[in-house]
Amino acid sequence: MLADTGRYAELAARAAELDAADPLAGLRDRFLLPAGVVYLDGNSLGALPAAVPPAVEDVVRRQWGASLIRSWNDHDWWQAPVRVGDAIGRLIGAAPGQTVVGGDSTSIQIFNALSAAARLRPGRPLLAVDPDHFPTDRYIAESFARGHGLEVRFVPPAGLPGFLAAEGARVAVAAYPPVDYRTGELHDMAGLTAAVHVAGALVLWDLCHAAGALPVELDALEVDLAVGCGYKYLSGGPGAPAFLYVARRHQARFDPELTGWTGHARPFEMTEPYEPAAGIGRARIGTPPMLSLLALEAALTAFDGVDLGALRAKSQSVTGFFIDCADALLGSAFAVVTPRAPERRGSQVTLRHPDAYALVQALAARDVIGDMRAPDMLRFGVNALYVSHADVLAAVACLRDVVAEGAHRPFLDGERSTVT
Ligand SMILES: *Cc1c(COP(=O)(O)O)cnc(C)c1O
Repeated sequence: MLADTGRYAELAARAAELDAADPLAGLRDRFLLPAGVVYLDGNSLGALPAAVPPAVEDVVRRQWGASLIRSWNDHDWWQAPVRVGDAIGRLIGAAPGQTVVGGDSTSIQIFNALSAAARLRPGRPLLAVDPDHFPTDRYIAESFARGHGLEVRFVPPAGLPGFLAAEGARVAVAAYPPVDYRTGELHDMAGLTAAVHVAGALVLWDLCHAAGALPVELDALEVDLAVGCGYKYLSGGPGAPAFLYVARRHQARFDPELTGWTGHARPFEMTEPYEPAAGIGRARIGTPPMLSLLALEAALTAFDGVDLGALRAKSQSVTGFFIDCADALLGSAFAVVTPRAPERRGSQVTLRHPDAYALVQALAARDVIGDMRAPDMLRFGVNALYVSHADVLAAVACLRDVVAEGAHRPFLDGERSTVT
């Protein structure tokens, strides 16, 4: 590390003070983080919760290994999708019976939610979608629209109320993320939901970067549909299945395109015709990946007893401190992309720099793990369950050192790896 500047010492003292006063500091023990690693990529793949390895061992050896197929009853595998759904529901402001973890990816759940929304709003030809939405959300909306004679209109969140005022009667569904996955900007979920409803359309929120990161109030905001993945802030493990929320008032008419046998009212009769189960169970599709689903269930215990308001306050404190560190330690080649107003950001900080890829590689070589989004954004996710103020100071100081030493230069022209 370079010689300490006065500013670094000041920041280190502040980090120590903030971490000492952090009521959530002990939650870090619920995760198995490698010593010496600063992990700021929990917005892409959450860290391993300590509860997961023994739970997976139990599922594999005692349940699958010894109970065999009896596990569907004896260990209540059959009800796991709604049970785990309700556990996630507690983190997103959803009363029980409205959230299901059917076992599929977010992408599949987006498709099914869009199809159900279009059937709930027949005769409306438009889907409003954030042009900066995560690619899979855009690709699936476009493919779905193409297959059904509908049209996607890409409308930024800020322009959505105006668009709806003009075209709202033709819009079936608006599909948006509360948090921009690249910049970390937090959109006005309440205001946009209300604007969509004034137009008589449905809203589909993708909570991938919100669930487990900040309080979400689906029931209170009268959200219609929501999806989200299990592996980011929920820390459910690589490829953990996604969740789908269907507001209770829509469930009786919830008629998605993918109707699999596990969503049938009496699946084991294996009869014709398809008759949907009552309630959220009809959103199930096929046999869930039980190992992943039960790993996710164990991971969610990391939130036991955690007040989401306190988690949000810590997240805002850590991300705010990150920005302070960036201002103090990094040169003008870096720009802070994430909004500085704490109420306008999710739980990550994004910096812009032309050498983003090489810088992220050089950081990772020093055990500071973030990621980048092309062409020039360095992303640093803060899961406030396990990231401290000292962590983000260490990350920013490391970035300063990498630049000062030119340690990223060997990565400038190298072949790019796909994920980080
Ligand atoms: C991460 C993410 C996804 C990922 O979709 P998968 O099907 O789980 O790969 C989708 N949408 C958003 C907004 C995301 O952030």
